[in-house]
Amino acid sequence: MIRQLPELHEQAFSEIDCLDCAACCKNFSPTFKPTDIKRISKYIGMKEGDFIDEYLQIDEDNDYVVKTKPCPFLQVDNSCGVYEVRPTDCARFPYTDSDVFVDKSGLSLKNSTFCPAAFKVLELLNENVQR
Ligand code: SF4
Ligand code: SF4
Repeated sequence: MIRQLPELHEQAFSEIDCLDCAACCKNFSPTFKPTDIKRISKYIGMKEGDFIDEYLQIDEDNDYVVKTKPCPFLQVDNSCGVYEVRPTDCARFPYTDSDVFVDKSGLSLKNSTFCPAAFKVLELLNENVQR
C-alpha cells in the first residue's frame, strides 16, 4: 500500500489545484518548528521573538501554531506569502506521498473530510484494493 502512495499522490494533485481550495490554510494551522520560525522570520525580515509575538501561540500539544485563522500568510488569491520558506508541515501536507498517511490513518481520515487531495488518494487506494 505504501509503495502506491507516491503515484496516487501525483495523480490526485494532477487533478486538484490547491489554489482553488486553501481549505487547510483557511481552517487549520501548521505546526511551526524552531527551524521553520528561524527561516520564515529571516525571510520576512523580523526578529524571531517578534515573529513569535506577532503571529504564533502555543497549542495544547506545546507546538507553535498561528494565532489567527485563516493563516496570516494566506493571500487573497489563495497563494502562500511565504511559500518558498513555508513550514515543513505545510510543504508535506496532506502527507499523501509518505508512510505517515497510512501510519496515522486517523489523522488522514480527518484530513480527507476537508482536503480533496487526501480524499482522492483514499478513493484511489480503495479502488486498488477492490481490484
Ligand atoms: S486542503 Fe488539500 S487540496 Fe486543499 S489546499 Fe490544502 S492540501 Fe491542497
Ligand atoms: S504558511 Fe502558507 S501554506 Fe502554510 S498555512 Fe500559511 S498560507 Fe498556508
